[in-house]
Amino acid sequence: MIPRDHPRYRSLVTREHLAECARSGVVSWEGLISHGRGEAFDYLLGEKTSGSARRAARMAAALLRTARHPVISVNGNTAALAAKEIALLQKASGALVEVNLFHRTPERVAQIESLLRNAGAEVFSGEAERLLPLSHDRAWCRREGMYTADVVLVPLEDGDRCGVLTGMGKKVIAIDLNPLSRTARTATLTIVDEVTRALPLIAESCTSLTSGECRDLIAALDNRAFLREAQDEMTRGFTHALD
Ligand code: ATP
Repeated sequence: MIPRDHPRYRSLVTREHLAECARSGVVSWEGLISHGRGEAFDYLLGEKTSGSARRAARMAAALLRTARHPVISVNGNTAALAAKEIALLQKASGALVEVNLFHRTPERVAQIESLLRNAGAEVFSGEAERLLPLSHDRAWCRREGMYTADVVLVPLEDGDRCGVLTGMGKKVIAIDLNPLSRTARTATLTIVDEVTRALPLIAESCTSLTSGECRDLIAALDNRAFLREAQDEMTRGFTHALD
């Protein structure tokens, strides 16, 4: 039992939840390690959304709103942490939700799809095929889903697939606390923020942005500038911690 007055209550509850999801198979054991990497970067952000991440979330909404065929790609960690937020973003953006896993088994896909449905998402779950040029199982996707999408939101991605998706001419929006990751550097747009904080911000902007605002935001998109701002924010966090 984690005491409510523990200074790291939220983080400990999240860890406990993820460990439970690993025992049930939703999260892979390796996914727990990925979460640890994310936590370390979030510590440097003071576990709060920066101004630049807020602006990046607005840009993400503009990309989703103006997309012809937007898809939200969900893995085990995202489903475990943010199934409800995914369902809300789907409603606000009209995007398809598709499960895509590195550690893929049919049982695990079905388990994650059912978790998402229970949270209110409509999951796109037709026949998957090995369509992406990758040697691991993230190559599996649906022809009418991610394969033909023009904009793909990839929370907690790995760099290989992100590179393949942008190489196919898609606009890729990543949510990744690590501004140094291959994903963050390869994506069209990276929101350097924690996934449960970033998703509601994107959803909120999806409902409030006008078409003109979407156009202006997309014209100003500069992913490297966002990554630099995130790194500066983290450097400041590090410096103040040592003061
Ligand atoms: P890359 O191939 O892009 O360099 P990686 O191998 O470092 O990625 P993975 O383990 O594939 O990383 O993916 C985990 C990424 O997700 C990490 O960069 C981590 O910082 C980030 N991450 C983990 N948990 C969260 C979270 N809750 N919110 C946002 N980002 C997170």
